[in-house]
Amino acid sequence: HSKDQGRNTYTFYTHQMNLDMHRRLKVEEQLRSALKNHELSVFFQPFVDIRSRKIIGAEALLRWNNELLGQVTPDEFIPIAEQTGLIIAIGQYVIQTALTAASQWQTYFNRQFKIAVNVSPKQFRESNFVDMLKVSLTQYDIHPSTVELEITEGVLLNGDQIITHNLQAINDIGVSISMDDFGTGYSSLSYLRSYPFNTLKVDKSFINDITVDPGDLELVGAAIAMGHGLNLIVVAEGVETEEQYHLLNALKCDYGQGYLFSKPLPQDEFEALLEAQIKVEAQTKQKLNSE
Ligand code: C2E
Ligand code: MG
Ligand code: MG
Ligand code: MG
Repeated sequence: HSKDQGRNTYTFYTHQMNLDMHRRLKVEEQLRSALKNHELSVFFQPFVDIRSRKIIGAEALLRWNNELLGQVTPDEFIPIAEQTGLIIAIGQYVIQTALTAASQWQTYFNRQFKIAVNVSPKQFRESNFVDMLKVSLTQYDIHPSTVELEITEGVLLNGDQIITHNLQAINDIGVSISMDDFGTGYSSLSYLRSYPFNTLKVDKSFINDITVDPGDLELVGAAIAMGHGLNLIVVAEGVETEEQYHLLNALKCDYGQGYLFSKPLPQDEFEALLEAQIKVEAQTKQKLNSE
């Protein structure tokens, strides 16, 4: 009897494994032609200054819409892009698209507008990564201090020479480096001490329960205080409610990002949001002048 049970468990397991494997191969196969078929696009999610609630920048986030698979989430396809090396070309596409958009926004909206781009470990390990970045900055006439590269702890694991070298080179040209998903890794703290970070993004899993879990509130408060102690800008990810917003404001968090302000938007919708903000600013100014 127990043997049968064992066999059933085994059968179920391999069946699930087969499904996973099949899905993975399909995703990989489709991903190979995604760039040249123009199936990838970049969305933009604003981040705001916590005190004023004004948009001061945006994070570029990849979207993939495939005829066969429909919408595939980055959490599913980015790891596959990493493993296959496709991330090099895809990552370059993201940087170019994001910087092209940001250069327009900096011209028409605000010279200080910040653009944040996620960079994955394999991209970061390329020896010509920083040269490529420099070329793009010149090409799109972007001031380096307005660009931020978001890396996770995974980039720094097995920290070899090339990583240290690239981080230093990026810091030298004046591009900012941000620790993404802070709190979810094992060694984030020691990395903060050893590398030239400018920004700390507190993971949304910590923000999620701050209104109901005193422990989480305590942790987020400590992360903000520590970040400020290290001269870092602190960003809260995944801000969804006014209650969370008010707590983060009280804790003196610098920036916020999340559905409360806006979900990630296609470029044209993001631009409409920026224009609406400029309009409100102009009206406020006019009102003040006429008083
Ligand atoms: P991330 O860099 O931590 O990006 C934030 C994620 O949180 C995004 O998911 C965003 O849509 C989501 N988010 C923002 N506000 C809220 C909120 O209020 N509530 C909730 N529940 N979620 C919120 P997305 O776009 O699905 O991306 C997932 C991850 O995929 C990113 O996490 C990043 O690690 C990776 N990724 C996305 N685009 C790129 C890219 O161009 N290159 C690389 N290397 N990785 C990327
Ligand atoms: Mg990010
Ligand atoms: Mg994150
Ligand atoms: Mg993440």
